[in-house]
Amino acid sequence: MATAGYDDNNIFAKILRGEIPSVRVYEDEHTVAFMDVMPQAPGHVLVIPRSGSRNLLDADPAVLSRTIPVVQKVANAVKEAFEADGVFIAQFNEPAAGQTVFHLHFHIIPRHEGVGLKPHSGQMEDGAVLKAHADKIRAALAET
Ligand code: 5GP
Repeated sequence: MATAGYDDNNIFAKILRGEIPSVRVYEDEHTVAFMDVMPQAPGHVLVIPRSGSRNLLDADPAVLSRTIPVVQKVANAVKEAFEADGVFIAQFNEPAAGQTVFHLHFHIIPRHEGVGLKPHSGQMEDGAVLKAHADKIRAALAET
C-alpha cells in the first residue's frame, strides 16, 4: 500500500516553527526535545529532528545519526531526574504501528519497577506539572 508523504502542517512542525507552544528541555541546531502533553509516565519526553520526515522509514540516515546521540543524552538525564530504574524508548511508524503525529519522534519514558504505563495519547497533563518536570530534566542535563 502507498504511504502518504511528509506534511509540514503536522503538530510537531508547528512546534518547531513556534506556532504552537511546547515545554522544551533541550535544543540544538538539528534537534529539539520537549515534554509530551499526554505523558505515559512523569518525565515523558519527545525528541525530534528539525529536519522533516514522516517517520524513521523515510528519514535521511544522516539525520538519524545526529538525532540518536540526543536521544541517548536526554534518556540519561530523564533517568537521573526521575531516579528511574530504566528508560523506555519508543518510535512508531504509520498508524498500524500506533503513530499519530507524522513527524519523526522518539519517545523517552522513565520506568520504575512495578509501575505501569498510562495509555498512549491518553490524558492531557497540567502545564505547570510539565514545566516542573522539564526543570528537573534541564537540571540533570546541565550536570552532564
Ligand atoms: P505517536 O503516536 O505519533 O508516536 O506519538 C505522538 C505523541 O505526541 C503522543 O504521545 C502524544 O501524547 C503527543 N502529542 C500529541 N499532540 C501533542 C502536542 O500538541 N504537544 C506535545 N508536546 N505532544 C503532543
